[in-house]
Amino acid sequence: MKFHSTPLKFFLFFLILFTAGCQNKSNNNLIAYSGFTMGTTYHIKIINDNNQITARENFQNRIDSLLKLVNNEMSTYIDSSEISKFNKYEKNKWFSISDDFYNVLKVALMICEGTKGAYDITVGPLVNLWGFGPSKKINKIPAQTKIDSLKKMVGYKKLEIRSNPKSIKKSIDGLYLDLSSIAKGFGVDKVSEFLSDNNIKNFMVEIGGEVRTAGHNQDGGVWEIGISSPDGSNGIAKIIPLSGMAMATSGSYNNYFEVNGKKYSHTIDPRTGWPVKHNLVSVSVLSNSCTLADGLATAIDVLGPVEGYNFALKEEIPILIFINENGKFVEKATPSFKKIINIK
Ligand code: ADP
Ligand code: MG
Repeated sequence: MKFHSTPLKFFLFFLILFTAGCQNKSNNNLIAYSGFTMGTTYHIKIINDNNQITARENFQNRIDSLLKLVNNEMSTYIDSSEISKFNKYEKNKWFSISDDFYNVLKVALMICEGTKGAYDITVGPLVNLWGFGPSKKINKIPAQTKIDSLKKMVGYKKLEIRSNPKSIKKSIDGLYLDLSSIAKGFGVDKVSEFLSDNNIKNFMVEIGGEVRTAGHNQDGGVWEIGISSPDGSNGIAKIIPLSGMAMATSGSYNNYFEVNGKKYSHTIDPRTGWPVKHNLVSVSVLSNSCTLADGLATAIDVLGPVEGYNFALKEEIPILIFINENGKFVEKATPSFKKIINIK
């Protein structure tokens, strides 16, 4: 299975968006929007060179509605969302789903298969058990017996999908989908497509660190996306010139809790039932599709620095990873990443 036809992403250790530098006349055309969605922030920059946007506020309202729609499809934090309804639905019965939901599931299931279940969108019960789901944080290690019993409920093969009519079915009670690893990327794609449909050719869309760009920035140059330092400081580890592509990042130091000096990440390895234990600090994936990039970044985060890197190498996925080697951060990029970004 080859993923490189569409890949790209970045995890939520902050992605810093560069718009600074010399602000010239063309900045008059820059429209910036920001707001909240999916439990995080979004930032959008649009070069309004042909006056495509005449009513600024109205345009933002349309973007907000679009994001609300995606949330109402894919957020496990909303009780009445499509995903929450399915999670409460009975087994062995087809449940009809929206086009968006179907499209995201197809990408997600491809990654589940490609990683042999290291990435698994049915990992929800374990995510929730470890306190990284919609209910409150628990900040403690759950009982191993509980981990073992919930592990049995996880497995993407317990989910069946059909295209006509678009619907899904679970084969066990309690199968629980979690699309948090991929929904932000999908939101980015959705907004990007909306902008393209409105004849906007130059833009940058970012939701919680997942980003997609098109055309040029306000200075007529390439969009530049900064990846902040893996040491958690406000420094910038790398600036990525990103033209007409998406980048998504996953990492293990942003969302975690600590017990006895040990960190427990929100990335759960379904094969063990435990948060990942490795020294991969972050992985950024490039792709044409932010949905794919987002899912792949989480997947490679689960696989870790060795298995994950080799997987990306084999599948020709452009990735940049940071590894913590005894307190020193070492970066490593696949040849396909270097080729796109033009680094040696
Ligand atoms: P962020 O939301 O910080 O950008 P990710 O895109 O990496 O990070 O998504 C992390 C989320 O993915 C977790 O909070 C959890 O809901 C879900 N998740 C955790 N482990 C897995 C896994 N093995 N496979 C699929 N999804 C996972
Ligand atoms: Mg992800």
